[in-house]
Amino acid sequence: MPLAHYRKKRDFIKTPEPSGKTPSARNLVFVVQLHDASHLHYDFRLKIGNVLKSWAIPKGPSMNPLEKRLAVETEDHPLAYANFEGIIPEDQYGGGIVLIWDHGTFKNITKKGAKRVALKTAYEQGHLVFELFGEKLKGQFVLQKFKTQGKSNWILLKIQDEYANKSNIIKQKPTSVVSGYKLSDFRKNKG
Ligand code: MN
Repeated sequence: MPLAHYRKKRDFIKTPEPSGKTPSARNLVFVVQLHDASHLHYDFRLKIGNVLKSWAIPKGPSMNPLEKRLAVETEDHPLAYANFEGIIPEDQYGGGIVLIWDHGTFKNITKKGAKRVALKTAYEQGHLVFELFGEKLKGQFVLQKFKTQGKSNWILLKIQDEYANKSNIIKQKPTSVVSGYKLSDFRKNKG
């Protein structure tokens, strides 16, 4: 059952998050959600098949090819989650503020030698190269799976191209691309 892990963790009577029963019909979508839960992190999600494959990135994405970002894979999320911004009640799984930090479309450009690799295969093989067409994130990135001490993890890395730069995008562009709110705007409205 796809999304079984996602549903098991949540009580949809109490959280405003989507249950995923109604799929949304958007194309190759990506979203980055700033999630102020017990630890602040950035949830990076790519539509692969009919779900959003998801990685939690503690430091957030970087436009600097010299800055590797640890990306810890988390449970698949429903497509409708790409539109979710709001407050998950504190007593619920992932309780805290979710803000849509960036979104847009992407293109799979993974190759093996001269051959193109299909998106799902690239994900399964742990080497995914793609181009992002976001409002903040643009250009080519790679998600690379690696093993350390028997544990699997991923790295998100910007590839050197015309969009690569050394700016601190996390600090310079903190607002939601949907509402224009910052985390602090949500915190004010919480109480
Ligand atoms: Mn999260």
